[in-house]
Amino acid sequence: MAVYNQIKADAILMGKLKHDADLLEELTEICKQNKIQLGRVEALGAVKKARIGFYDQQKKEYNFFEIDKPLEITNLIGNVSLKDGEPIVHAHITLADAKGNAFGGHLAPGTIIFACEFIINSYEGPEYCRGLDQQTHLPLWKME
Ligand code: ZN
Repeated sequence: MAVYNQIKADAILMGKLKHDADLLEELTEICKQNKIQLGRVEALGAVKKARIGFYDQQKKEYNFFEIDKPLEITNLIGNVSLKDGEPIVHAHITLADAKGNAFGGHLAPGTIIFACEFIINSYEGPEYCRGLDQQTHLPLWKME
C-alpha cells in the first residue's frame, strides 16, 4: 500500500550552479544553507563528466560507473529529505552525449558541472527521515 502525506509548498529557489563544482554536493549545500528539510529538485544543463549509480536488486548494493566526457543534462529530478538529521538530496539524472545517446541513473558524487540551472521547491510538512529498509536494504523514508 502506498504511504503518503499532504504537504504544502513553501519557497521556491531558482538559480544556477557553480562551474566545475560537484553537482550533488552543490544541490545538497543549497538545501543545508536554506534549511530545506523537505522538497523537490529539478535541473538541466551540462556536465563535464558524470558518475552514476545502479542498484543491484539481487546483491542489494550500488554499482557506480563513470562517463568521462561532456554530456547534456536532459533531466534531473530529485527530492530533499533528512538522513541522520541532515538534508539529503536524492536525485536521478538523464544525460545525453553528442550523438543523442542517453544514459541515466542515481546521481552520485563525482558528477562535475559545466553549467546548470536548477529549481528547488521547499515544502512544509512532517519530517521525512531516511533509515535502512529491511526489504530493499535501501535508506528509504521511515513512514507508517
Ligand atoms: Zn536513487
